[in-house]
Amino acid sequence: AYPHMLAPLDLGFTTLKNRVLMGSMHTGLEETRDWNRVAEFYADRARGGVALMVTGGIGPNMEGSVLPGAAMMTSDKDVANHSIVTARVHEAGGKIAMQILHAGRYAYGPKCVAPSPVKSPISPFPPTELDEEGIEKQITDIVNAAVLAQQAGYDGVEIMGSEGYFLNQFLVTHTNKRTDRWGGSYENRMRLPIEVVRRTREAVGRDFIIIYRLSMIDLVPNGSTFDEVVQLAKEIEKAGATIINTGIGWHEARIPTIATSVPRAAFAWVTKKLMGQVSIPVITSNRINTPEVAEEVLASGCADMVSMARPMLADADFVNKAAAGQGDRIAPCIACNQACLDHTFGGKLTSCLVNPRACHETELVVEKAAAPKKVAIVGAGPAGLSTAITAAQRGHAVTVFDKSDEIGGQLNMAKQVPGKEEFWGLVDWYRVMLADLGVTLKLGQSVGADDLSGFDEVVIATGVSPRDPAIPGQDRANVLSYIDVLRHKKPVGKRVAVIGAGGIGFDVSEFLLEEGHSPATDLPLWMKEWGVTDPGEHRSGLAPEGPQPAKPEREVTLLQRKAKAHGKDLGKTTGWIHRATLKMKGVNFVGGVNYEKIDDEGLHVSFGEARENPTLIACDTVVLCAGQVSDRSLADALEAKGVPCHVIGGADVAAELDAKRAINQGTRLALSF
Ligand code: SF4
Repeated sequence: AYPHMLAPLDLGFTTLKNRVLMGSMHTGLEETRDWNRVAEFYADRARGGVALMVTGGIGPNMEGSVLPGAAMMTSDKDVANHSIVTARVHEAGGKIAMQILHAGRYAYGPKCVAPSPVKSPISPFPPTELDEEGIEKQITDIVNAAVLAQQAGYDGVEIMGSEGYFLNQFLVTHTNKRTDRWGGSYENRMRLPIEVVRRTREAVGRDFIIIYRLSMIDLVPNGSTFDEVVQLAKEIEKAGATIINTGIGWHEARIPTIATSVPRAAFAWVTKKLMGQVSIPVITSNRINTPEVAEEVLASGCADMVSMARPMLADADFVNKAAAGQGDRIAPCIACNQACLDHTFGGKLTSCLVNPRACHETELVVEKAAAPKKVAIVGAGPAGLSTAITAAQRGHAVTVFDKSDEIGGQLNMAKQVPGKEEFWGLVDWYRVMLADLGVTLKLGQSVGADDLSGFDEVVIATGVSPRDPAIPGQDRANVLSYIDVLRHKKPVGKRVAVIGAGGIGFDVSEFLLEEGHSPATDLPLWMKEWGVTDPGEHRSGLAPEGPQPAKPEREVTLLQRKAKAHGKDLGKTTGWIHRATLKMKGVNFVGGVNYEKIDDEGLHVSFGEARENPTLIACDTVVLCAGQVSDRSLADALEAKGVPCHVIGGADVAAELDAKRAINQGTRLALSF
């Protein structure tokens, strides 16, 4: 299986055992200064069979670090700390390269520097323009970081030249307004990246991997043309790079590049355009999350290697499982960003929604229980399923009950939403794991307190029920709940008012707008919708006509009681995508409303505490997405009988449907008994 993905890659002085690179992720682990924990994170992935890993971005100096206090490679102490990591990875049979990340104007601090004083839209700090001496210092510091990385035992470095960071900022006129030898013509603008690679190679010698991460499609105005990309790649090869890795889009681009609504392997075709232009290996990346997708990308000649980052959080054993023919047992990354990038950008340590052990390897250790127990779990949603899997892995005898005749709970509704198709894979994975671990499933059964005697541990994961918003007229035929829409597929009219703009309100709106045709599974449609085109035809890969969204299926008004902007509480790194999608499709956002009544004409609302400005939202259907309440009836019944139980997931806290919290809570509970 997967002959292309599992084929070794000879780099001349060393051989990579397969074609899978674990791409760089800023996990925040290095900043914990707990180097044992950092080492265990990488060693776990090395044991899982990945050929080469790249660390999170490490700063070469203060001004280039992503944040004040971010990890740097500048001293003997840093070398000693990083040596703990490299030694553990090598012991585990792996290889690891350190990413040198100079953030330039993206550095979140007042000392940031750049080719020109052009402030980035994603940082409040205007950068200082570097003079000749300042540029020299940056080169020296980057080269020094590479030399120290070599001393620390790394197998190589990745020089971060994409995503709109420092080196990328020199390449394009968008950010480089200089008129000296570092600006103006393209030859001048690419001088810095080339110089960095050339001097790094000179300093580290021949037998050390240098990966250059090159932006192949900038997706920002005035970005590179593809001819410039090819020219740079050739020069980077000449300057001494071992491998070229793909970067897609600057961080300030307003086009999603890795979110779950981006089609799988959506940008592999961009990397393919570079194949044959250079003679060193080329890596592709972005939304490759299964061995099948990786194999297909490689077999179709898009690249020599694939980079997967988040999938290695979801399952450290990705490669080994694929090699053993157990691809269906790989915990899938659903590209939600909820516990990885949203954490990173929220200043929290990274983990993974699907795998709470990610970055917590030293804390959450799955060991066989000293005394196996009989465990009953009521509810086969994410909380119950994650408890079941971890409990079974520990050797407990687990029975899962659910009144529904399928597992997955609310995940089954999420998977209906266009752009959330990855949830299908997550439910499938749970099904495979339950069977593999011998969990007894009792589906289609309502369970009462009396059915749960004889178990040592009882876990209540009965989830949530929709909150009753008590709107006069809500029992009329033109009113549906989100469950009616997403699960029961009841007919919905052409003009719809959606009550509640939380995650479910957004999901339902997207479902109603796209019904039946998801851009996430149709790459040409997705590219058209977001205005992405061939960078060989248009600079930076931006279509001159801009986004061309397909005509929506319905006219949707999305309402909320709060007066603040819609979608403020959605994920940090994905909320903007949901807002932009709905706006593109003409959704009318209305906030600060009181719901007065529903009648034949539609929904009647008023505004503010004084209930002013009565307004009719004329519509055929009203969909209630007004929050949920915990379903605790069974837990209460057990408590009344004096039967101890654990209440987790939505049954515990219903605030917003939150699979991340549910899975984390379930996993931790199963490690506690
Ligand atoms: Fe993937 Fe979501 Fe886990 Fe991040 S949190 S690694 S996106 S499944």
